[in-house]
Amino acid sequence: MRQKVIELNDVKCILGKTNVGLYENHLIDTAVIDVPLDLKAILITHGHADHFAWASTLQKRTRALVVAPKEDAFLIELPEVNVRGMFNWARPPVEMTTRFFLGEPCRVDRYTEEYPFEGTIAPLPLPGHTMGHTGYLCDGVLFAGDALYSKAVWERHKLPYSIDVELTRRSLDAIENTAFDWLVPSHGAVMSKDESVGQIALHLEHLAQIDDMILRLLKNPLSTEELIYAVLKELNVQDNLAQYWLSVTTIKGHLSGLASTYKVAYDIMDHRVCWKLNE
Ligand SMILES: [Zn+2]
Repeated sequence: MRQKVIELNDVKCILGKTNVGLYENHLIDTAVIDVPLDLKAILITHGHADHFAWASTLQKRTRALVVAPKEDAFLIELPEVNVRGMFNWARPPVEMTTRFFLGEPCRVDRYTEEYPFEGTIAPLPLPGHTMGHTGYLCDGVLFAGDALYSKAVWERHKLPYSIDVELTRRSLDAIENTAFDWLVPSHGAVMSKDESVGQIALHLEHLAQIDDMILRLLKNPLSTEELIYAVLKELNVQDNLAQYWLSVTTIKGHLSGLASTYKVAYDIMDHRVCWKLNE
């Protein structure tokens, strides 16, 4: 795995498939890396395996406390919950399970909300990608997890994962209203505060475009399955069983946002849930 280590202020950033931070013996998220043996805590942003998969190994190696947001802790201790939730609690065939929901389970020693943060390190709740998703601000460097998708991510993925689009929007506002020098997203390039403002605007614009597309498609009422088909077709999302279920969640994330803001209505007819414009 290719990794590059850079220093931003007094923070070490190990840039790779998942970007990881190291600051005052606190590790932010995990990857296959060497860490100091006196590591104090591993701060997990959220319960997806590409962020916590290495935590169990480091926990055994270093005696560091594994710290995770309360609402995501169960996904880290029992990743099976994520797999089942995605498939309405039934057990999905293995080909339908994304690798982001698998990974070695790890005991969570302390909730982020209860961990005694000191000095220039603080958590920043950024829900939307998952319910407990949390960023960590270390000495002017914000580790934003998967809360902000940069232009490069949008070029690769037409429908990046979000379980609650309204929460995602509020978290993007929270990032914009937070003072920092550098933002390190979990995936992609480091950006300055100024650059992050443009990337936040772009992320919000993409969310609005997807909402607009759904509203346009619902000019004629559609069942959930028909709407999912129409969105994936229009975005030309590649057929892939595991990716399909992530897309289903994201489309439902948009639907719940549009329902909570009274833009769409729903009903059950002829054994199918139908969605339509709220007129
Ligand atoms: Zn994630």
